[in-house]
Amino acid sequence: MIEEIKKGLLNFQHFTYKKYEKLYQDLQGRQSPHTLFIACSDSRVSPEILTDSDPGEVFKIRNIANTVPSFESSQYDLTTVSAIEYAVEVLKVKEIIICGHSNCGGCAAALSGTDQLSHLPYTRDYLKPLEEVRQKIDKLITEEDLEKKATLMEQMNVVEQLKHLKEYPSIMEKVQKGDLELEGWHYDIGTGQVHVYDEAGEVFIDTNAFDSD
Ligand SMILES: [Zn+2]
Repeated sequence: MIEEIKKGLLNFQHFTYKKYEKLYQDLQGRQSPHTLFIACSDSRVSPEILTDSDPGEVFKIRNIANTVPSFESSQYDLTTVSAIEYAVEVLKVKEIIICGHSNCGGCAAALSGTDQLSHLPYTRDYLKPLEEVRQKIDKLITEEDLEKKATLMEQMNVVEQLKHLKEYPSIMEKVQKGDLELEGWHYDIGTGQVHVYDEAGEVFIDTNAFDSD
């Protein structure tokens, strides 16, 4: 075991667990998370810290570039779709958040073109569906503003994954009944800001604007 993990585990057992002891004992036989959080595997994105949540509140799926397979390609990513199915049908979460983030390596790789990933064959094949998003961005931004392109890629990727979620009849049915909300986020690691996708306006809105609510 590496030192960082050993130290962290001991710290958890001696201090953090104690802090949550009652909650953990209460949770040992059941879980009732209110939210399914689909985030990138990136080590800098921490759903619990970002949403100030306790254990038991947020069910999570992590993968490169926070993707959901389209309905027609669901069989190619059973890991993701089975976790969504469980969260929606069994845990009956009230909300699904797809959270993209700044400086996303997966999105950057897709933006450079998956044909450059011959040394990472699994990643290349996995990111292929993002080619479509990249093509849209190439049409929208013709100048070579790489930062602007990267952010747009991360945000449009979130919108694309939301679209995929809506292709699943069981999800759409719950959304239409008002039992489930879908949200798209873009989290800026350097500033801590989160922009939330506004479907009607087709824009990402700074959540700092929610302060006055
Ligand atoms: Zn990422």
